[in-house]
Amino acid sequence: MFAFRDRLGRVGVAFTDRHGGTSGGPFASLNLTDATGDDPASVRGNLDRLRTTLGEPPLRLALMHQVHGADVHVVDGRTDVREVPVADALVTPLADVALVVRVADCVPVLLADERAGVVAAAHAGRPGLVAGVVPATLSAMHDLGAERIRAWVGPHVCGSCYEVPDQMRADVSAVVPEADARTSWGTPALDIGAGVRAQLTAAGVEVASGAGAGSRAASRCTVEDDDLFSYRRQGRRSGRLAGVVWRRR
Ligand SMILES: [Zn+2]
Repeated sequence: MFAFRDRLGRVGVAFTDRHGGTSGGPFASLNLTDATGDDPASVRGNLDRLRTTLGEPPLRLALMHQVHGADVHVVDGRTDVREVPVADALVTPLADVALVVRVADCVPVLLADERAGVVAAAHAGRPGLVAGVVPATLSAMHDLGAERIRAWVGPHVCGSCYEVPDQMRADVSAVVPEADARTSWGTPALDIGAGVRAQLTAAGVEVASGAGAGSRAASRCTVEDDDLFSYRRQGRRSGRLAGVVWRRR
């Protein structure tokens, strides 16, 4: 079920893999979205398995409808977590609410200031990197009192696999130079993960090494690893893995 798990005091983080669910076909088995053709009942079941596996007291899952933008949605005491807002980042000061970002090649970023009790989850694909979803998320966390923020960068397509047209490489690199890359076969590419890490580091955020106890690297490549869902490898009808972050009381 988990590609990676970590703990920081009262904060828990996890990235899922594609095992341990009930979906079939290209969604086998722990697909966490019904936006790409899977049976909604299977997806609900998979989300519930994830939720119950994360322990007691039960967490409430907060989802978002991601659109490759930079809008941040704050989940607070006035929010009904059953709502699925259009946003590419979720931030909360609440305990026992698990923020969920769903991806297949884009970069899932989990963030926490354990002392301030603020956690966040962001979806950073190529457009989100350029639009600045990561700095926008950090800003929303600061507004809620976060100061010392730690980040975990989850599984995504790596810079050696993410081939793009040269003009696209140039356009993105003009905004985030660290994303400039070449594929392993020598063509223009983007390293969105490197771009995200650069934005985090520039903002003074400590990026976790990603080598969690007993698990493989958090940031491993979705295209190269059959245990993960990948849009590039599987096509449009692919499942989604999740990054999840929560805080206990
Ligand atoms: Zn790769």
